[in-house]
Amino acid sequence: SVPAAILSALSASARGGVLFKGGAALERLAAVRAFAFDKTGTLTTGRAEVTGIHAASGDETELLALLAGLEAQSEHPIADAIRRAALAREVVPVLVTAVRALASEGIVGLDPSGAQVWAGNARMLDRMGATEAAAALQTDAAEDTQVWVGRGAQVLGAVRVADAPRETSAAALAALRQGGVQRILMMTGDRRPVALRIGRALGFAEDDIAADLLPADKVKLVELMAETGAVAFVGDGVNDAAALARADVGIAMGAAGSEVALQAADVALMAEDMAQLAAAHRISRRAARIIR
Ligand code: ADP
Ligand code: MG
Repeated sequence: SVPAAILSALSASARGGVLFKGGAALERLAAVRAFAFDKTGTLTTGRAEVTGIHAASGDETELLALLAGLEAQSEHPIADAIRRAALAREVVPVLVTAVRALASEGIVGLDPSGAQVWAGNARMLDRMGATEAAAALQTDAAEDTQVWVGRGAQVLGAVRVADAPRETSAAALAALRQGGVQRILMMTGDRRPVALRIGRALGFAEDDIAADLLPADKVKLVELMAETGAVAFVGDGVNDAAALARADVGIAMGAAGSEVALQAADVALMAEDMAQLAAAHRISRRAARIIR
């Protein structure tokens, strides 16, 4: 049977919107001294903004219409930003079919003429043989995320997207450190300049920021961390599912996160409030002291 101290810790956490899939997960969290956080949609809000549109043809509306069509079904925070930008400009998305998402890379599909169209990062440019064509466009994303858009090997343009830390992220990280957490890393599939901008704002040392990661890279880093003790991974996306499953405690964003991430996780954060995570860690440690 589950000890009373664990039961009451589970319900105290639930009141803060932190839902554990059972008492064992709460006991494991009590032992965690190292945390890894995904960036986009986890440490940052799920509401990114489009900050620039650069169309090779000069027709920004046409570019945004195609991109919004590609992103129509995606649950990625980038897709949400692009759909909102299209809506705000009253741009009607192009009908894109046979859409396929490539984790930590982008989206591919077919436009109404049957041509392959795509959107994504440098990995996608590489896949499409479009790296040089993109460089020729001379756009500079600086510390924002650059979403390249193309048809076949042709680069049609790029859209800049910027995200910002959740209001509660910095305080939650500080509270975890105060509560005895020895190591906290940021792991992201985004570009390093973006990761550094967000990471510095949240007090991360440069060595504790890992960027340009594929889902499997996040798993490898979690495994490295696990060599020295129990690890929690906090994430929101499909790209985080494997790391969530591999960590001693997987923690998923509940309301804004993807279904796949929630299923892989041991804990769901239902409120968009990182402070509740630090509170749950504190509660779990207190319960573990009582039953020991
Ligand atoms: P994070 O690990 O920070 O949550 P992801 O691994 O989900 O980031 O994404 C990494 C990068 O892959 C993004 O910054 C973007 O460049 C690209 N990407 C992922 N999904 C999409 C998408 N739906 N549309 C365009 N680009 C995408
Ligand atoms: Mg994410």
